[in-house]
Formats: sequence, C-alpha cells, structure tokens
Amino acid sequence: MPDCRKLLAQMSEYIDGELPKDLCASLERHLADCPNCRVMFDSLTKTIKIYREGKEEPLPDELKDKLHKALEARWARKRRA
Ligand SMILES: [Zn+2]
Repeated sequence: MPDCRKLLAQMSEYIDGELPKDLCASLERHLADCPNCRVMFDSLTKTIKIYREGKEEPLPDELKDKLHKALEARWARKRRA
C-alpha cells in the first residue's frame, strides 16, 4: 500500500473538513481497502473527538503535529516489523 504514508498525513485535514474533495474521495477509497489505515483513522478520530468534547475548542496545530508524528512513527514501526 504505497499511499499509506500520504494518506496518514491527510487524515486530520479530512477530519477537520479541510481536505479538498478529490483527496477526500481517494482517502475514503483507500480506507475502504486498507485495514491498517482504518485503524489509524479510527484512533485519530476518537482522539480528536475526545479532545474537542473535553475542551470545546478546535484542535491546536501543535497537537495536530504531535498526533501526526505519533501516528507516523507507529506506522513506520509496523511497516518495518
Ligand atoms: Zn493504507
């Protein structure tokens, strides 16, 4: 799945509704086919939702960066294993 890394970087934009429509479509297609990315997407969605419900304010860029890095590191480990 060569698109995984790219898709991962687009997920938080997608969740925020900031991803262009054509990219949304390809992300959704990829999620339908890729269990790994679905798991990532689910945990990212939950994390953001929990954060928002607790704070009732948009996710700061700093936290988004941290989430991205954490997910990318996790994904990279999985890939090597
Ligand atoms: Zn994938």
